[in-house]
Amino acid sequence: MADKSRDISVVVVGGSYAGAAAARKLADLSKKGYPGLKVTLVDEKSHYFHAIGFPKSLVDGKYASKSFLPFSAFFEAGTQHQFVNSRLHAVTDAHHLELENGQQLYFDYLVLATGGKAPGPINVSATGKDDGLAEIERLRTGLENADSVLVIGGGAVGVEVTGFVAAAFPQKKVTLVHSGKRLLPANFREGVSNGAVAKLGQLGVNVVLNERIELPEDFGHAAHIGPQVLSGASGAEYSSDVQILAVGFKVNSAFLEPLEAKLGSLLHIEDGPGFIRVRPTLQLDSDAFPNIFVPGDANDLPMTAKYGFKAEMQGGTTAANIKKLIDSGFDQAFVRSQQQQRSSSVEVPPLSKWSDMLDAILVPIGPDLGVAQMLKVALGCSGIGNFIVRQLKTKDFMLWMRKGYFPNKQQIN
Ligand SMILES: Cc1cc2nc3c(=O)[nH]c(=O)nc-3n(C[C@H](O)[C@H](O)[C@H](O)COP(=O)(O)OP(=O)(O)OC[C@H]3O[C@@H](n4cnc5c(N)ncnc54)[C@H](O)[C@@H]3O)c2cc1C
Repeated sequence: MADKSRDISVVVVGGSYAGAAAARKLADLSKKGYPGLKVTLVDEKSHYFHAIGFPKSLVDGKYASKSFLPFSAFFEAGTQHQFVNSRLHAVTDAHHLELENGQQLYFDYLVLATGGKAPGPINVSATGKDDGLAEIERLRTGLENADSVLVIGGGAVGVEVTGFVAAAFPQKKVTLVHSGKRLLPANFREGVSNGAVAKLGQLGVNVVLNERIELPEDFGHAAHIGPQVLSGASGAEYSSDVQILAVGFKVNSAFLEPLEAKLGSLLHIEDGPGFIRVRPTLQLDSDAFPNIFVPGDANDLPMTAKYGFKAEMQGGTTAANIKKLIDSGFDQAFVRSQQQQRSSSVEVPPLSKWSDMLDAILVPIGPDLGVAQMLKVALGCSGIGNFIVRQLKTKDFMLWMRKGYFPNKQQIN
C-alpha cells in the first residue's frame, strides 16, 4: 500500500461543471487522509459563469449578477490548494504545463476540463464579472430596442432562450428557426418536442422547422444587434432586428500540440468541433499519458453527453479514478519509469468507466412553462411538465447547487 501522506500535485484546468466537480472532490480528499494532496485550479476566467441560467440572465440583470462566482472563493482560506487565473498555453510533457502568464506547473495528475465554446452571445466570452455583465447587458438592451428577434437553432439552449425572450417581451415578434424536423435533441421523445412547439406557440413564438438559415461567411461568432435579412435554404427570407445564434460548438485542443508532436499522432479529432479523444475511463486516449484526464464537453463522448450535469458526473468519475491511482502508488512508479524512460511498463490499476445511463432533460420555456423527460417519461404538452420544470429548475436554474462549490461565502454576493 502506497504512503497516502506523500506530496501529490493535481492540476485541474477549467473550473466549470466538470473541473469544479473534480477539483472539489480531490481537495476534500486532502482532509480525509491525503494531507499532501495539493490541488491547483487554473482558469482563464476570474469568475465561474453559470451558463445553464443564461436564458434567465438575459432578461434579468439581478440574476445575471449572481451568476458570476469568483474562483478566488473556490478553496477555503489557509489550505494548500490554490486558484491560478491564467490560460493554459501548452502541456509540454507527462508532468509539466505552461500557462500564458509564463508560469510552469508540475503535475502528477492533470485534469483537462476545458470544455468548449458555444457561439456568442450564449457563451459569455468575457473573462471577468464586469465585462461579462456588460456583454449580457448589451444584448438585453438590443432586445429592448428591437421589434423582432430571430433565434437560430432549436436545441435545448435555443428553445430556452426563445421562451425567455418571448415571455419577457410579449409585444415583440419572435421567430425560432431550426434545421431539424423537431425541436430539442433527437434522443428525447417526440412528445417533448411537440410540447415545446405548443408552449412556444402559447408565448406567440413563430417556430419554423426543417429550415436551415444560410449564415454569411462573416457572420462571426456573436449576437447581432441591428436589422438583417437572412435567407433560409427554402428560399424564405427572415428579417429581424436582433439575431441570436444557438448553433455551433468548438473545442480547443491546441495546448496538446507538444504531446501530439512527441507521439507523432493526434490526440484530438480533426473534424467537427475538434473533440479530444478519451478512453471510457476518461483518460486521454494514449498509453503515454495515463495520468491525464479529460472530463466534460471537451472529450469525444457522444453529443448526448454534452450537458452540465453529465460533465459534473464525469468530473466525479475522474476524481475517483485519480484516487485509485494514488492509492496504488501509480504516480511514484510513473515518475520512476519516466526517469528511466520506460513509461509503457507501468501498470495502471483497473479504473472506473464512465457510462451515460441517464437521459433526462428539463427545459424551461419562459418563467411559467416547460417540458421535460425523466426516466423515459415525456412531459410535453401537459400542465404537469410546467409544474415540474418550475419546481426543479426555473426558479434559479440550479444556481444554488453551484454555490455549494464555493465555500468562501464572504466573497460571494
Ligand atoms: C446557454 C447554455 C445553457 C445550457 N443549459 C444547460 C442546462 O440547462 N443543463 C445542462 O445540463 N447543460 C446545459 N448547458 C450545457 C453545459 O453548460 C455544458 O455541458 C457544460 O458547461 C460543460 O461543462 P465543462 O465543465 O465540460 O466545460 P465548460 O463549461 O465549457 O467550462 C470550461 C472551463 O474551462 C475554462 N478554460 C477553457 N480553456 C481554457 C484554457 N486554455 N485555460 C484555462 N482555462 C480554460 C473556461 O474558462 C471554463 O471555465 C448549457 C449551455 C449553454 C451555453
